[in-house]
Parts: sequence; structure tokens; C-alpha cells
Amino acid sequence: VDVSAEPELTDGFHLVIDALKLNDIHTIYGVPGIPITDLGRLAQAAGMRVISFRHEQHAGNAAAIAGFLTKKPGICLTVSAPGFLNGLTALANATTNCFPMILISGSSEREIVDLQQGDYEEMDQLAIAKPLCKAAFRVLHAADIGIAVARAIRAAVSGRPGGVYLDLPAKLFSQVMEAEAGAKSLVKVIDAAPAQLPAPSAIKRALDVLKSAKRPLIVLGKGAAYAQADDEVRALVETSGIPYVPMSMAKGLLPDTHPQSAGAARSLVLKEADVVLLVGARLNWLLSHGKGKTWGAPGSKKFIQIDIEPKEMDSNVEIVAPIVGDIGSCVSALLDGMKGDWQAPPTSWTDAISAKKEENLGKMASKLRKNSTPMDFHGALGALKTIIAERPDAILVNEGANTLDLARGIIDMYQPRKRLDVGTWGIMGIGMGFAIAAAVETGKPVLAVEGDSAFGFSGMEVETICRYNLPVCIVVFNNNGIYRGTDTDPTGRDPGTTVFVRDSRYDKMMEAFGGVGVNATTPDELSQAVNAAMDSGRPTLINAVIDPQAGTESGNIGSLNPQSAVKKK
Ligand code: ADP
Ligand code: MG
Repeated sequence: VDVSAEPELTDGFHLVIDALKLNDIHTIYGVPGIPITDLGRLAQAAGMRVISFRHEQHAGNAAAIAGFLTKKPGICLTVSAPGFLNGLTALANATTNCFPMILISGSSEREIVDLQQGDYEEMDQLAIAKPLCKAAFRVLHAADIGIAVARAIRAAVSGRPGGVYLDLPAKLFSQVMEAEAGAKSLVKVIDAAPAQLPAPSAIKRALDVLKSAKRPLIVLGKGAAYAQADDEVRALVETSGIPYVPMSMAKGLLPDTHPQSAGAARSLVLKEADVVLLVGARLNWLLSHGKGKTWGAPGSKKFIQIDIEPKEMDSNVEIVAPIVGDIGSCVSALLDGMKGDWQAPPTSWTDAISAKKEENLGKMASKLRKNSTPMDFHGALGALKTIIAERPDAILVNEGANTLDLARGIIDMYQPRKRLDVGTWGIMGIGMGFAIAAAVETGKPVLAVEGDSAFGFSGMEVETICRYNLPVCIVVFNNNGIYRGTDTDPTGRDPGTTVFVRDSRYDKMMEAFGGVGVNATTPDELSQAVNAAMDSGRPTLINAVIDPQAGTESGNIGSLNPQSAVKKK
């Protein structure tokens, strides 16, 4: 037999890898296991970066934030049933936050799953994923892998970005086809997220409303950060002269120290503004749904909204001037329309904001200098604020209750997409996944500022950080518990429901895996340890000892916590 005459073959494994690489996707975040263990190995052998986690939720969170940072879908790879479900939490969170990602899960044999005959890890994953993401696809034939990956990419990044599920049954991976036909079956997605230009009439309507404003305000959301239209957004703010507030992940689009930032006068401007231009920000709970006492007298506001998703308009209140399109195109069109006769907002408005800012920042300043033992949140965050000011290209990951709320207000950001946090759901557990992907995708140092409770959700991933030797410095704000470390069990039987082991040493966890652990009891020690970590790039965990009395129930969102009206004797 003449072997050389036999056609070269490929299979499902290689087609998945080739399809991703063809589309410039070179990183996979996942957890290996049946049936995708070899997919990870082969991807690594083919030159892809494969980051193996300890739990799928964190791999999924990593993929999601990679999507936010790069505008390309982050890939999360999991095993079937339980691994898939773990990844699904992150997929749902990505979709909620408008981050593009693709969850690729292996699955069990269709014939057995559909007849519910009890296969290994049996689960109808496609059906379960569908309501929790933008799109879900299953591939049964190797020849369809190329088109399926292309559809998944386009679905994830076009329009409003979000999560996509790709179901790959075990049998698919070993399906063989001729290599030449396989190569031809692959699809390189052309213009995956096409520009969406706003209608000229929508721009004119918006400019008319904006020109009529006496107290205009711009709200920048994480959609604006995602869009990577940084120059346009900055030009809009500066050309218009309109004060702006950034939502938390939009901080740094313009430096928080910008004279037009009204961040430190947020309550005032939300209440008093008469026209509000929303740029990639939704009027959801984070903006009090655009109504209520946060927004001042009823009917006192006119909202203009830029969003790529038409259904977002009028979601909570009337949008008098909807601008549907991508942020780059919409902002450019507004800027064009401002040429010539644009007038800056009245100085009575901008002066009132400046005065309020000065007052609030003055009140804060002395708290941030407090050098006490144990530390309170402000003293510790004062130290970290200085570090980010000196290292503006570092990426800040932030989660917790008090640790989140206070850090968001205190730590100024200077560059776009440097602040990654709990997002639209306000969830705990994103910390290590986000930190890992931030380091992998950008190569920049990462500072993860974590409440002790928040850290617990993903803490095991410190091993992953050490294994890949990533430049991640974790600061655990350790106040012995959730909100505070002071709860007790009224019956005297157990610890209180919101406390942890007292005086834990999270730094020892890092040492267990070869990283650097530091126990810091003063802001000075904290500063020193963080600077050393950022200089060395070595995986570091600093246990920042915070007063267990410090902190408030649920941080800033205590009002969302239902209280029992019944007093039991
Ligand atoms: P924040 O929490 O910062 O207020 P949200 O996640 O609520 O931000 O809102 C982001 C909005 O940005 C979403 O409604 C989304 O549809 C929109 N968006 C995302 N990317 C783009 C883009 N490239 N162009 C226009 N709008 C976008
Ligand atoms: Mg705590």
C-alpha cells in the first residue's frame, strides 16, 4: 500500500483549535477533564495559551473579563454537567454585563442523554444554557465546527455583546475528516462587530435637547469603556464642557482627577441635572432606575441615551432622545453636530459642582491619612490610592461590600479599563478570575483589593496565580467577616452567621504555593508590601488587618436588605 497516497486527516479536536486560531483567539481559560482533557493539551501543543483553573466559575469569569478587555470573546472550556453548570454562572454574569465570551463545554452522548438513560454526567446542557446567554449552539458533525465557531464569535461580539454557549458532544472530538476539506470548512469571521451608525435625525434630536440644558450631565458606563472609543469619549466631554460621572468600570476613561469629573459630587449632580446623556450606561438599580429621590423632583430630568441595544431605550423611564448605534460612531456624530455653535454649560452649574467636590474631597482627605492599628477601611485605602496614582497602568480588581464601595470612591483611576469589579449584578466571586485574565491579557501588574468574604469565593485560585507566576498582588481586607467581624449566635451555640475564624492569616495561603505572603497591620506596612509586590511582579497576598468593628451592613446597599418587622420574644 502506498501510504503517501492516503489523504491527510484531521479531527474534531484539531478543527476546534484551528477555528479559534484562525479567528485570532489564542487563549483558553478552563478546567480539564472528560471529555475535553485532550482538547486543552492539543491546544497548548498548537501554541495556544491554556490557563487551567481549579474551578470553572473562575475560568469563566476570566474569559468574561478577557472579553471586556479585548473586544474578542474570551473562551472558557469545561467538562460536562457539573463543570458546565459551574461555568454557566460566569456565562450568565457575562451576558448580564454585556461581556463577550464563549463557554465551550463537552457533553455526553446525545442518544443516551435524550432518552434519559443515565449517561456519565448526563445533562441536556444546550437547553439549560439557552435562557442564560445570547445564543447557544450544538455541533454534531466535525464539518460544522468552523461555521459553529464563527457563529459563536459573531453572536458574542456583535450588537450588545454577551455570552454564547457552544455544546460539543464527546463523540465530535474524535470524528475524522480529510484535512483539506477540514481546512476549507473553517470560517474567518469578517467584521464581527460591524459599526452601527446612528440616524442623523436621532443625533439632531439629541443635540437640540442637549443645547436646551441649563444643568447638563454626562454619565459614562462600562459600555463606553468596552467600546474602546476613548479619544472620542474624551473629546465629547472636553468639547462640550459638560460635567460627567463615571460608573465604576468607566472610571479612568478620563482620569478621575479631570476637572470636569463630578464623581465627588455625584449625589448633587444626579439630583440637580436637567438633561442627562447616558453613554453606554443602563438606568438599572445602579442608577436607581432613573427615578426616585436620587434623581430629584419627579419630571425634572430629560434623558438622552446612547446604546447599541434598541430595547434598552425606555427600560425604566422615558428616553426623550434615543441614539441607537455603537458608541464610537454615535459620539463622533454628536461631536460633528457640535461644531460651530456649541456653548459650554452655564458656569453657575459647573461652579456649584466644583464647590461641592472640594467640600467632599476635603472631608475625605483627613480620613485617608489615618495611620492606625488595626487599620480602618479609609486608612488602608488611602495607602492604595497613592499606589494607583503612582502606577496608573496597573489594573485594579475590586470586590467586597465595604471594600468595594469605599475603594470605588476613594481610589482614583487614570486610564481606561483599569478598574474591574463586581459589575451589574454586584456579585462576589469575580476576584481571582478577573485578576488572572487581566494579567494574562495585558501583561500589566494587577492589584486585587478584596474583602475577606469576597476573596473566599475564589481563593483557591491563588494556586493558579502561583503556578503561572502572574504579577498579581492580592490585598485581603480582613475584618474577620462579612460586613463586620462582630456577629454572635444569640443562642451561644455557633459563631455568628457572618463571621469567620478570627485573625485568620490569608497570607499563609499564598506561601503554601510558593508566593509571597505578608501580614500588614498599618497603612505604611501595607504600602511597602504592595510596592514591593508591584516592583517584583511576584504573586503576593497581603493580609491587611482591618478593625472588625469597621464596616457597615451590606456596605452602601443596606437598603436592599429586607428586615424582619416581627420581633419574636
Ligand atoms: P454600567 O454598569 O457601567 O452603567 P451597563 O453595563 O449598565 O454599564 O451598560 C452598558 C451598556 O452599554 C449596555 O446597555 C450595552 O448595550 C451598551 N454597549 C456595550 N457596548 C456598546 C457599544 N460598543 N456601543 C454602544 N453601546 C454599547
Ligand atoms: Mg470582611
